[in-house]
Amino acid sequence: MSLMKPVYTVIIPVYNERESLPECHRRVSAVMEAVGEPYELLFINDGSKDGSLEILRGICAADKNSLCVSFSRNFGHMNAITAGMDFARGDAVLVIDADLQDPPELFPEMIARWKEGFEVVYGKRVERKGESAFKKASAALYYRFLKSMTNVDMPLDTGEFRLIDRKVCDAIKRIKEKNKYMRGLVSWVGFRQTGVEYVRAERFAGETKYPLSKMIKLAADGITAFSYKPLKLAATLGVVISLCSFVYLIVVLIQRLAWHSTAVGWASTVAIMLFFQGVVLIVLGVIGEYIGRIFEEIKDRPAYLVSEAINMDGSKPEDGNV
Ligand code: UDP
Ligand code: MG
Repeated sequence: MSLMKPVYTVIIPVYNERESLPECHRRVSAVMEAVGEPYELLFINDGSKDGSLEILRGICAADKNSLCVSFSRNFGHMNAITAGMDFARGDAVLVIDADLQDPPELFPEMIARWKEGFEVVYGKRVERKGESAFKKASAALYYRFLKSMTNVDMPLDTGEFRLIDRKVCDAIKRIKEKNKYMRGLVSWVGFRQTGVEYVRAERFAGETKYPLSKMIKLAADGITAFSYKPLKLAATLGVVISLCSFVYLIVVLIQRLAWHSTAVGWASTVAIMLFFQGVVLIVLGVIGEYIGRIFEEIKDRPAYLVSEAINMDGSKPEDGNV
């Protein structure tokens, strides 16, 4: 741990980023050195299996400004950032991906806005390079869908690349929920916010660590953490379908009583049955999604477990959300 209390903490979540780490350390350090105030680079090793930890050990041995907290296993990107905020000591906390898709060279601009008095300065992607058409389209669609589903005014096309003030960091630390949807919470806490635009580059090396399954989980976290509109929609769907069913019931009764013509219709019976079973299962799924999240919260397990802390003499490894 560097002796002086840092003005800036840069949180860098790392999951299997062996090839990117040296370049990441070099570029982020160069930018922070140029800023000219005390800083710390806080690498959070999120259970990497590719030897990233060994590389981080080397980086931390050579650079007193680099610290590392290593998890006992993979706890996910959001929990890595949560840990970063728990351990950060800076007056301003910056978050950047280890794959250099977000340019650290934007930090001085973010810092300038912070010094003007903004407490959150988020990076806004105006272009995304080297990402699949599917990822871009699904992201664009998802952020707009999320906006329509929730009341939180989240800026469009932002990720975790941002600067937050100590006050905002402390506010987020007070939020004890699991699977924190960080970009939503940062909007939710309020404070003076502004964005700086940037072009998202290609990954420096390796593959995305967000396969479709993790993307879907993050998307579900985002919606369920900020709104119960899906439950309301399920209820609305139930009412609409019940009304339609009632109308059809009357039609069937009239057919039966007036024309005695109800014998045919096996196909329509099966079709209606399948349709309603489908609707019921979807609605149960939505309810289940929320119950699962209540279950997660109620167990109150730690958001992460630390197995090793490097260059962090002052602070002991802490378990979970402090
Ligand atoms: N990451 C992590 N834990 C995970 C997945 C990703 O700490 O379970 C890190 C990863 O190393 C990277 C950042 O989170 O620094 C963003 O991941 P990635 O670049 O794969 O996401 P994408 O840019 O493709 O959305
Ligand atoms: Mg990336």
